[in-house]
This record gives sequence, structure tokens and C-alpha cells, in this order.
Amino acid sequence: MKIQEAKYLMSNSDYEKCPKPDLPEYAFIGRSNVGKSSLINMLTGKKALAKTSQQPGKTQLINHYFINEKWYLVDLPGYGYAKVSKTEREKWEKMIGDYLHNRPNLVCTFVLIDIRHEALAVDLEFMEELGQGGIPFHIIFTKADKLKPFQQSEQVRKYKEKLAEIWEEIPPMFVTSAEKGEGRDGVLDTIESYN
Ligand code: GDP
Repeated sequence: MKIQEAKYLMSNSDYEKCPKPDLPEYAFIGRSNVGKSSLINMLTGKKALAKTSQQPGKTQLINHYFINEKWYLVDLPGYGYAKVSKTEREKWEKMIGDYLHNRPNLVCTFVLIDIRHEALAVDLEFMEELGQGGIPFHIIFTKADKLKPFQQSEQVRKYKEKLAEIWEEIPPMFVTSAEKGEGRDGVLDTIESYN
């Protein structure tokens, strides 16, 4: 799929105020600093669509982008930032939980994982919650350029091994680098195949 048009639509804290759920939508989420904004900019071919390197944990809103006038790309606030207060974290959990469980047009969620890290509890727990809620998800490994190709394969293999301890089925996985523009077609073609 080619992205001809990508525009910012709105930001909300309440899923009920999000755009009318009459088009397919795909959400992107991950730990703060995982490279989500950079990935969104890379996928859409727009350098500053999503804001990169904001203070982690600062953007606590559900951000909707309108792509090719056909589907919504949703940038969800990251989790796992240590400096966020308990109140903030609870607010995040409620907002994201409500959104994920109640958005009827949400086709699939992309969970972003920094390819350099071993499987982290915070990510595994988040995926487990998605699974329990019957919310389909795929995994996107980010920052692949930070590792050599054989190290990338090894990290993916280890991650699959870890997931296999919990999951019967391993979700689809994509290896990407926003820096090098890698993995774009895999993600966009998957979205197109669902649209
Ligand atoms: P976010 O907080 O998840 O939205 O993460 P950002 O997109 O703001 O990225 C966090 C940091 O990681 C920034 O310093 C980015 O320049 C860096 N980064 C993001 N993606 C990549 C990538 O693919 N390769 C490399 N080398 N750095 C990246």
C-alpha cells in the first residue's frame, strides 16, 4: 500500500469522543521511547506527523490520523515510564482499557518492542491483557538498525521462544527501522490486506 495522504485528525482522552467508528482502525502502542512516533512518521512518509522524542510519558492522549481517507491510524500513549505517578498510570489504564475494549472498528493493535531488549514483563503483561480481551495484536520490533542482521534474527527467535511459553499461537511479527525505512511494506501490506 502507498500512503498518499496522512493527516492528523484529533486527540482525545475519551474513546467515545474519537471519530465515528465507521472505518477500519489500527492502533500503535508500546513502552515510552520505543520508537513509536518515529515508526509512524516512517510508515506515513511524513517527517513530523507524530511528534518524536517528547518527554516520555507526556503525551497521554489517543491520537487519530486519517490515512488515504480510508482508515485510521491511532497513536496511543506509551506505558512503562517510571516517572509517571500512580494517579497518572491509573488514568492511562482506564483510558487505554476503555479504548481497546470498546472501539468496534479496531481491527488490530501493533505492540512495539525495542529489538535490543529481552522480553520485558511490562510488555508481556500488556499482551496478555490484549489476549484476555480477545483483542488481536501483532508485534513490531523497532530500531533494527541498532543490531546486526544475525543479532536481529536471534532476538526475534528468543522473543518467539518466550511467547511460546504463554501463547499457543505466536502473533505476526515485523522487524523495522525508522532510521533506515525498513519494514514499512510488511506493516502497510498487512493493514491493506485487512481493509
Ligand atoms: P516514542 O517515545 O516511542 O514515540 O519514541 P520516539 O520515536 O520519540 O524515539 C525515541 C528515540 O529513539 C529517539 O531518540 C529516536 O531518534 C530513536 N529512534 C526511534 N526509532 C529509531 C530507529 O529505528 N533507529 C534508531 N537508531 N533510533 C530510533
